[in-house]
Amino acid sequence: MNPLIIANWKMNLRPNQAADLALDMKKILKKEVNKDIVICPSFTALDSVSNVIKKTNISLGAQNVFWKDSGAFTGEESIKNLKEFGCEYVIVGHSDRRRYFYETNEMINKKISACLDGGMTPVLCIGENMEERREGKAEHVLWSQLTECLKNIDLMPSEQIVIAYEPVWAISTSGTGQVMEVSDVQRSFNLVYQNLIDLWPLTIVNNNVRILYGGSVDGQISAELSNIDKIKGFLVGGASLDSQEFAKIIKNIQ
Ligand code: PEP
Repeated sequence: MNPLIIANWKMNLRPNQAADLALDMKKILKKEVNKDIVICPSFTALDSVSNVIKKTNISLGAQNVFWKDSGAFTGEESIKNLKEFGCEYVIVGHSDRRRYFYETNEMINKKISACLDGGMTPVLCIGENMEERREGKAEHVLWSQLTECLKNIDLMPSEQIVIAYEPVWAISTSGTGQVMEVSDVQRSFNLVYQNLIDLWPLTIVNNNVRILYGGSVDGQISAELSNIDKIKGFLVGGASLDSQEFAKIIKNIQ
């Protein structure tokens, strides 16, 4: 599996601004081969970004999805609709959604199941907040998020899933602004990997699951973080709004 670097543009950029940034990235990143690069703009910018990155080495992702195909679910979007724009990935369970929209592990589990059934790769975000870390609960939080979000999910050899470990307190906009020590990130990665091999066969974990890190990643810190054992890339928020900085991050992951 190639390394994977995902840009989460969150609720930033109007459709024309998103298309301009995508165009910039398309030019800067055209020589990046053997790396999977994904842009996740807001829903309203999916169309404009999709047109720019068609037939390039950049794929399209969404920031959220609902688990039903259609119906009275005001404000939600289905996998089928997202696929029409060319989305191949979708972020589920981002801490913004857990925090502001009260998404639970049970809801996230339904989304993951629907994504896999619909042929979309889910990017499951997990991570402890500062209080949980201070109270020594980080290990338990990761375990319960993984086991509940992945409950009854039997990954087929043809399917892929991405796990983004994002300690909530280290995310630039919603956290404390602190950067996590590389040794602590490694400890969490070991734990996530161990939890995954408790859930699924080793070959599935090694061949069909990529574990990413997210939380204030920029061109500088990504160089250190890329040495972490089992890391397969990054989920990037703030720094992905700057094409040069995003390109540096991509260069740093092998
Ligand atoms: C995120 O919101 O998923 C994220 C990692 O943001 P940032 O890179 O800005 O910390």
